[in-house]
Amino acid sequence: MGQVSKNARTSSSTQKFFCGCGGEVKMKSIFSGGKLKNLAICEKCKRQERKPGDFK
Ligand SMILES: [Zn+2]
Repeated sequence: MGQVSKNARTSSSTQKFFCGCGGEVKMKSIFSGGKLKNLAICEKCKRQERKPGDFK
């Protein structure tokens, strides 16, 4: 516990996704049911999906 690797970066964090409306999709971390969840949200139309790939 408490160990953080310097190589923990995931390739998905550097990738950009775009919504069908043309807005950029940003990842957000929210707490839900005591667990940290990642949500993909379009900045333009505020559409929310579980994964950035779902915006296609
Ligand atoms: Zn959108």
